[in-house]
Amino acid sequence: MKFDWLIIGAGFSGCVLAEQIANRMNQKVLIIEKRDHIGGNAYDCYDPHGILVHQYGPHLFHTNSKKVWHYLTQFTDWTCYQHHVLAVIDGKTVPVPFNLNALRSLFPIKYADRLEEKLTKQYGFGKKVPILELMDVADEEMKELAEYIYKNVFYGYTVKQWGMKPDELDRSVMARVPIHISRDNRYFQDQYQGVPMLGYKSMFNNMISHPNIKVLLKTDYDEVKEYFHSTNMIYTGPIDAFFDYKFGKLPYRSLNFTARHLHNCTSYQPVAQVNYPNNYEFTRITEYKKITGQNVPGTTIMHEEACSYTPGVNVPYYPIPRKENNDLYTKYKMEAKKLKENVLFVGRLAEYKYYNMDQVVARALHVFENEIAKQK
Ligand code: FAD
Repeated sequence: MKFDWLIIGAGFSGCVLAEQIANRMNQKVLIIEKRDHIGGNAYDCYDPHGILVHQYGPHLFHTNSKKVWHYLTQFTDWTCYQHHVLAVIDGKTVPVPFNLNALRSLFPIKYADRLEEKLTKQYGFGKKVPILELMDVADEEMKELAEYIYKNVFYGYTVKQWGMKPDELDRSVMARVPIHISRDNRYFQDQYQGVPMLGYKSMFNNMISHPNIKVLLKTDYDEVKEYFHSTNMIYTGPIDAFFDYKFGKLPYRSLNFTARHLHNCTSYQPVAQVNYPNNYEFTRITEYKKITGQNVPGTTIMHEEACSYTPGVNVPYYPIPRKENNDLYTKYKMEAKKLKENVLFVGRLAEYKYYNMDQVVARALHVFENEIAKQK
């Protein structure tokens, strides 16, 4: 079989583009994937106890994009799950993002009432205020509250998650962290939220089950590239690896996941995700059946601990948002522009950028519409 397109990586980026090329252009695609499964980091599978777990950490789909939601709905029904997260602060569990309910759980009622009034008056009920903005206000009490939240909710979590203090990361990271002037305990407020009813794996299978698409698993492109040539290529792996790390390695944060099945426990924690900003080495515990709604005896929980990344040893999860890393990425991006072959670099590893799933689907659809379909 001759292929019109070679796609490296079977995550969201690779699968959406393969589906579009096969269905809308009727061209043939070969996907090369180094893992033994499709789906990239969104992959899920049943553990030995019959519980559906997300192998690379909890993946909650949420979007305000009708286009993305309807696109994916062609390949899956949804469980209409809305994510709730608690954080253990001073021995109490409070909702995050920090909101008015968290304020009431942690502080005496008179103080909470007063601060609620001040916050609502200054910003309006329902608003999300970046923590850094709140730390800059003139009112001493509001400032003190912001400093308390920064120290107890964000600081420890950030140090564990990134292995560095917040001020060593791009200011944009903390600037995005909100306080929610609201009683809405949901983690996301997007219009469309859920998880694929039969799992992500099933959704990806439906997406790429087309006679024009073939998938080669357990094959690292770097090891076989001399055998595979195509006039058109989409690369969704790490951009520095594509160029043999000629300018140096792009830094990532990696993660360790430890799953444990509890036979005699029907419910381990009140919500699917509990964060531990200040205690223990791990950052969070996820209880999967609270996401999928599976009604089974026993439960499976997963501890997540961040760690440094070494190519070839563990998985690159999060690009580290620092100026020097973005500068290094820009060098590779410039190199990509000089390539004579038609190679499109798409996705979180190829663009060294954290994308949510909806953003990466939107990005892949955009690339198809603007850089593939238009040119053919
Ligand atoms: P990937 O999913 O990483 O796919 C790239 C694929 O390329 C991988 O399968 C990889 O094995 C393969 N590959 C790489 N190099 C090679 C090579 N040399 N040869 C062959 N194959 C190769 N988003 C949300 O919207 N909600 C969430 O709740 C959420 N939770 C997350 C939790 C964690 C812990 C992480 C890390 C991310 C989370 N995300 C979440 C983001 C989501 O995972 C990404 O948006 C999505 O996976 C990006 O898809 P991708 O195709 O760009 O990359």
